Amino acid sequence: MSIPFIKELQFAYGTVSGLSPLVRRVIAQNPSAFTFHGTGTYILGHGDGVAVIDPGPDDPAHVEALLDNLRDETVSHILVTHTHRDHSPGAALLKARTGAQTWAFGPHPQPKGSLAVEEGGDHDFMPDHLLQDGEVLQGKGWTVSALHTPGHISNHLCFALHEEKALFSGDHVMGWSTTVISPPDGSMADYYASLNRLLPRDDVRYYPTHGAPIDAMNTGHSPQHFARALIKHRQGREAQIMDCLKAGPQTIPQMVGAMYADIPKYLHPAAARSVLAHLIHMAEDGRVKVEDGGAADEAAVYRRD
Ligand SMILES: [Zn+2]
Repeated sequence: MSIPFIKELQFAYGTVSGLSPLVRRVIAQNPSAFTFHGTGTYILGHGDGVAVIDPGPDDPAHVEALLDNLRDETVSHILVTHTHRDHSPGAALLKARTGAQTWAFGPHPQPKGSLAVEEGGDHDFMPDHLLQDGEVLQGKGWTVSALHTPGHISNHLCFALHEEKALFSGDHVMGWSTTVISPPDGSMADYYASLNRLLPRDDVRYYPTHGAPIDAMNTGHSPQHFARALIKHRQGREAQIMDCLKAGPQTIPQMVGAMYADIPKYLHPAAARSVLAHLIHMAEDGRVKVEDGGAADEAAVYRRD
């Protein structure tokens, strides 16, 4: 079961794209190996009282472009999926310009100076309102409930738009790539649980912060099929790890070299964090052991139980 990734994306920087009756998107110009073409900032609703989801990086030009597209409208809510630097720093800029309050699960979970891969943590963001799992927010013509989906990071929220059965999936589910799971912010056990939570839901479309909408039109399958494929992909990685360990005890660099031979070397540090996340999970449920009974970290040697 391969993941039906979507590599196509129709857009122009600074220009709003209408994606559904209630949803518009403006993409920030921060393309990278982790953000695809950049952060997709979503606008919910129309007129006097729109919500903005993930205002993006600390980029005044992006916030300017967003507001240019919202002339004669007012922003009532700023929602943030999580505190990575490509998602939340724009909240302060947008709040300063509009006076809208911010809603998120909580501040960044790790102290300053901790290891960062991907885009790094935003330590400055402090939401005006903390959102818990299941909480509902209402605005003009839109209703959103918060879904706590730790895994990529412990404070990750998805936002479900009731009126359109759509889910703003942040970095939990991305259409163009798999998600980086980097301990200690990231947890593979949480990630599996948060993916499994999506399976019984009746969402018809996911809007990831990076990349095109995930729906039947873009993938040929339901979004739940996409989430299931992500679970299968991770289980496949764990089978690969068990295969690597057949030969005897191994380090993470050895396993990454074997498992990720087909991806560019500059992505190997991120891959090593994902392999570590798997190994922590597999050590917890007893499938692997750390040599000499040490901690499961990037320097450890692993063996099959
Ligand atoms: Zn992120």
